[in-house]
Formats: sequence, C-alpha cells, structure tokens
Amino acid sequence: MTYGKAMTVLGAIAPEDLGITLMHEHVYSDIRRLFEPKGEATPEDIAWWGQKLTLENLHVAREAGPIADNYVLDDEVVAIEELKELKVRGGGTLVDLTPIGVGRDPLALRRVAEATGLNIVMGTGWYREMYHPSDFSQRSIEELADEMIRDLTVGVADTKVRAGIIGEIGIHVNDPDGGVPTGEIKCLRAAATAARSSGAAVSIHMFGGRRARLQVIDILKEEGIDLSRVVLCHSDLIADDTDLLIEQLEQGVYVEFDLLGRVEAVPVPSRSAAVPDAILKLSAIGWTEKLLLSQDFCMKWHLKHWGGVGRSWLLTRFLPYLSSIGVTGEQLETIMVKNPRTLLTLAKPLV
Ligand SMILES: [Zn+2]
Repeated sequence: MTYGKAMTVLGAIAPEDLGITLMHEHVYSDIRRLFEPKGEATPEDIAWWGQKLTLENLHVAREAGPIADNYVLDDEVVAIEELKELKVRGGGTLVDLTPIGVGRDPLALRRVAEATGLNIVMGTGWYREMYHPSDFSQRSIEELADEMIRDLTVGVADTKVRAGIIGEIGIHVNDPDGGVPTGEIKCLRAAATAARSSGAAVSIHMFGGRRARLQVIDILKEEGIDLSRVVLCHSDLIADDTDLLIEQLEQGVYVEFDLLGRVEAVPVPSRSAAVPDAILKLSAIGWTEKLLLSQDFCMKWHLKHWGGVGRSWLLTRFLPYLSSIGVTGEQLETIMVKNPRTLLTLAKPLV
C-alpha cells in the first residue's frame, strides 16, 4: 500500500518531494451551472451568456454579467504554459480539487503533470448539491464511499490515475443561520467513510455561517475521523472573524485561505482584504501549523492568458507581502510546505 507516501496523478512520491504546494486549485473544471441565466434573464442576457470569451469582450463580461465560456477551464496549452511558470517560480505541487462531474479529467491532469514537471494531486468526491448526479439520493453512503475509495486506491474508471485527497466536498449554505442540506450531509458522511478506510485527507468547500460550520465538525466527529486530516476551505469568507476561526482550529481542523488573487465580477468587498491580518494574528498565537493558502482558480479570467494575475501570484506577490508585514520565513515554510506535506502523506487507515 501507499501509506507514508503522497499520491500524485503520476504515482506515489516521497512527501519530501512535494515542495511548495498550492492546496486548492482547478486545472480543469466546468462550473457553468452555477452562473447560468435563471428565470428572470432577458433574451439579451441569454445571448450574451452564449458568447465566446475574447480579450475584446472580457471587460464587458466583468460588468455586464456572466458569460458561459469564462467558467470552463479546458485549454491544455494555456494550462501547461501557466503551470510551467508556476514551476519555474518555485512551485512543487498543485492539488486539483475539481469534484466528480465538475469537469474533472484524470488523463488530462496526467498529461499536464508530464508536460510541466509539476506534481499534481487529484481529488475525489462530490461538490454542492446542485452538482450531485441524478442517482445520488438512491445511492447509499457506503456506495458513495466505495467510489471515492476506488479512485484513491485503484484509479478513476480505467485510467489508473489515482486520487490523493478527498475533496473538494461541497458544503454550501447561503443562509448565514442555515443548516447543511441533506444531500450534502450524506456526501460528507461518505467522505468521512472514505477517509477512515483510505488514510487520505478531506478538503471541504465550506460556505456558510457558524451553525453550518459547527454542524460539519459535529458530523465528522460522529463519523469518528481524525479532525487533523480535515481542511475547511474558503476561510477567506470569515477571515475577519478571529473568534470563529479559532473555534474551528481548536477542533483540530486546518483553516485554508484559498480565494487569493482572484478577479471577481461582482463588486464584493475584497474577500482577501482581511486574510494577511488573520494569518499574522493566528501565527502569533501558535496556529501556523494549521494554516493553508491557495488561489482556487476556476475561471478563465483568473489566468494570465485572460487578464488575471495567474497561477504564480501567491508565490511571487502574496508571500512577499506577508513577509513585509511580519510573517516569518519559517512560518511561510510551514504554511506552504510542511502543512501540505503532512496532509498529503497518506495516513494509516482507521478501519
Ligand atoms: Zn475550489
């Protein structure tokens, strides 16, 4: 078996060879369903939605609303170009957390890893309820877990490409006081089952208020998994709530700030604004060993080719900024190398 190793799309490697790691990215993905025109859309919105994204209409896409093509990452030439740059800038490993049915492409990931020399670790599992397959409610927790375990131990379908982490598991609660939807609870329990028997870590797309967050932790506790093998993603959304961050950290989970460097279409207050301060505060009180950083790029306009800051922005801009405000080199090494290595090293199964 592969305990004690990290599993990449090209096979098992020594954890020491992972290097600087982006823990939450998407090389291939298709999230069009999240943005497609709803009932109130006008014929113009629908026509606009169907356009191809070009450098000429890119600025309009930022102002006038969603355009489908922006939400698909499938250009291998661009992927290789930007990931080669990441490698040159010091990147060692990228974790591709595209869930099943959201454009995950094991063979393409293998080709990109071969072409770039970057380690790629692939995820397995299901995203938000709206992306669950139509037979999801009929399938048992054990059946869902078995599919993830097969991806982790044998490979996806007949590709022989194995996943090295579970995730991103979709937990998405829009109501700040709301609880987690039934289908997503089922998915979480299946992910916990797969984690227990495979030793892989679990990365969770965590969107929601305190109630949903603590519910997720309670469910994972009920499932008896090691909370130090769990990552709560998108913590940027609560970066200004130190108490809630600490409440989660005290349970043993990792907190991941992974929306860094993203161009957003809507004029939300920058989600990244509070992150540097949160890292500084949490590091100062001893939580460095539970922090992770990434960019979660999943749209064309995140990429340099499409006017974004590109795949190596975190390394070339954000880390130097953290240094400049007082995060030490040792702390950055822990966050970018040591913590990912701990998580990606496959643990002994609990069952
Ligand atoms: Zn993601």
